Amino acid sequence: MAVPFRRTSTTRKNKRRTHYKLKVPGMVKCPNCGEYKLSHRVCGECGQYKGKEVVEK
Ligand SMILES: [Zn+2]
Repeated sequence: MAVPFRRTSTTRKNKRRTHYKLKVPGMVKCPNCGEYKLSHRVCGECGQYKGKEVVEK
């Protein structure tokens, strides 16, 4: 089995892990109730989209 020839330095390890991050994808606050929701989606809390259109309740 292949074994690493050199140990990975802290810098190299940290550089590799710059891509490991938590991210909240496209979350915006609902203009009606202030809850976080996905943009371009109906709000799950109040069921509104684009101001007044009540899509579900
Ligand atoms: Zn809402």
